[in-house]
Amino acid sequence: MGLRRSLYKTPAQLRSMVEPGLITAAALDAVRALVAPGVTTAELDAAAAEVVAARGAESNFQLVRGYRHTTCVSVNEQVVHGIPGSRVLEPGDIVSIDAGAQFKGWNGDSAITIVVPDPSRPELVAARERLSEVTQTSLWAGIAALASAARVGEVGDAVQTSIESSGEGYGILRDYVGHGIGRRMHEGPTVFNYRVADLGPAVRPGLCLAIEPMVVAGSEATLVEDDDWTVSTVDGSDGCHWEHSVAVHENGIWVLTAADGGAAGLAPFGVTPTPIA
Ligand code: MG
Ligand code: MG
Repeated sequence: MGLRRSLYKTPAQLRSMVEPGLITAAALDAVRALVAPGVTTAELDAAAAEVVAARGAESNFQLVRGYRHTTCVSVNEQVVHGIPGSRVLEPGDIVSIDAGAQFKGWNGDSAITIVVPDPSRPELVAARERLSEVTQTSLWAGIAALASAARVGEVGDAVQTSIESSGEGYGILRDYVGHGIGRRMHEGPTVFNYRVADLGPAVRPGLCLAIEPMVVAGSEATLVEDDDWTVSTVDGSDGCHWEHSVAVHENGIWVLTAADGGAAGLAPFGVTPTPIA
């Protein structure tokens, strides 16, 4: 009973998911505006924290046991769960920022990746921007698939197919996945970023998913660093992470963590998001 209730939200519960999504998006907007050489990852985190507090929300990352920050900031070979701190961003860095907010008991969760400009290394920047572009495109492919999917597993199929179609030979992390989102930031069902035999639960109105491809330029093997959080590639290749929280409702889908509901990102896939009534 509890599992079923958390999988499919009522229309009123879906409406409660809108504001935390928008707050999360605004926090990432603040971070995006700040990314530049010389900025520390702690400063990025502070910018997100300021937005979350100003909007009357709280950090849901800080509800995760042992975590004291509003964001995760993962640089270069770090893929996810990097801890903000004194690290200074350098030209050419590829930086993934994951943020979330809880508002009136409901949660948003989203991640972006930015490549810090470096005019002296155009090839490095181009390669990293390509990794980010392919990862972001796979996120939108997964969201677009959700719009017409019968089962949750079709999302991962679309994500993997999109990444493979890039022809880049990138790896997809296997040990880290997307998730349902609602009263808790992490709830069922699991949202894989790759094809699985069991397609999982039905896609029906009320489903809210955080879809979050984690893609690496080389081998998908990862390790957890000595800080017990940061997930880095074993081979030192670059990592990338994009994420949105998405609601399925009676009249279609709506990307909760995008100010336009995902209209721009979904347009290339012929999908038009519909606001939650
Ligand atoms: Mg996240
Ligand atoms: Mg997530």
